[in-house]
Amino acid sequence: MKIEKITGQIFTYPTRRSVDSDGHSHPGAESQAKMALLTLEADTGDKGYAFAPQEVVRSHVLDAFVRPAAIGQHPMQREKIWKSLEHRQRGSAGQLTDRALAAVEQALWDLAGRALQTPVYRLLGGYRDKVPAYGSTMCGDELPGGLATPDDYANFALKLVARGYKGIKIHTWMPPVRFAPDVDMDIKACAAVREAVGPDIALMLDGYHNYSRVDALRIGRALEKLQFAWFEEMMNEQSMESYAWLAGQLDIPILGPESLSGKHYSRAAWVQHGACDILRAGVPGVGGITPTLKVAHLAEAFGMDCEVHGNGAANLAACAAIKNCKWYERGLLHPFLEYDEVPAYLNALVDPMDSEGFVHLSQKPGLGEDIDFDYIEAHTVSRY
Ligand code: MG
Repeated sequence: MKIEKITGQIFTYPTRRSVDSDGHSHPGAESQAKMALLTLEADTGDKGYAFAPQEVVRSHVLDAFVRPAAIGQHPMQREKIWKSLEHRQRGSAGQLTDRALAAVEQALWDLAGRALQTPVYRLLGGYRDKVPAYGSTMCGDELPGGLATPDDYANFALKLVARGYKGIKIHTWMPPVRFAPDVDMDIKACAAVREAVGPDIALMLDGYHNYSRVDALRIGRALEKLQFAWFEEMMNEQSMESYAWLAGQLDIPILGPESLSGKHYSRAAWVQHGACDILRAGVPGVGGITPTLKVAHLAEAFGMDCEVHGNGAANLAACAAIKNCKWYERGLLHPFLEYDEVPAYLNALVDPMDSEGFVHLSQKPGLGEDIDFDYIEAHTVSRY
């Protein structure tokens, strides 16, 4: 079995998410967005797929790095192909990103699952068939009745609890919101949500605001009183020492690093330096499903949990494969958007959630994405 063909295609699909001047998602008028579908094909006819932002797997990336590393290789020798890609990152002047490695590796796992007629999460270990989800909100806005006030967050939290969520993670206000970031407003929103949902719902704060140590400590102490489950990315993760300083003073678990580069290597250093209490890895961020499991296994060896960052089929498969991850991150959610609506390019949600707050793993071979190939073909705008 050899990889014979690697192709990308860009297609359009309707979305009601818009992006503000600082890059944060909010509800908006319907518009057309673009996405890339990466396809790997073996000489046996077996195929594997991965969706990715079009920039991540653009034509130059496939030509210069991915095809030279993968064409002619056995598609189940993922580690060999991944190591070859990782080696090529050094000389790529930043063009071959961890996200590109993740897309390729995800497609290799999908191909293996489809070829073996087995769901990928089972190939990865298959610790469980369903995972509890937390509802992860969009960051705040200035939309009346949206996420503009602490009360808005409280009202939305009640809706999420009614939908079945047993955990909620809050993203608070970011620029260009006029007053953001604001320590007091963040604490008020967290307090309003805790008061609304009561003591039995797990709550987390993702304060990705590059706060100072002093501001982060103040928020952390407030969250301890509110019995929050973790405090995430409140400072710039490039400064591991700041996280070690904060973790040394707070009882609330510090979760990280999420956006920091360095794959499993940088995460090992965070454990060694006591910079976090719960590790963090997401499939696109650390370069694939396998490196995510490397981080999770590292955490397990130190008696730590590893919470998987982000939604989607690959992250869900990683969550289901391991024991030391409490939650699947479902979102981003907003009162004006319907998360349970199936995207135009799929025939079914990848993360259907029941009324008890459990997301069930697809039993389809591969990563479990039920792709609407007819839709994608009809809406393809370029191929390479
Ligand atoms: Mg986060």
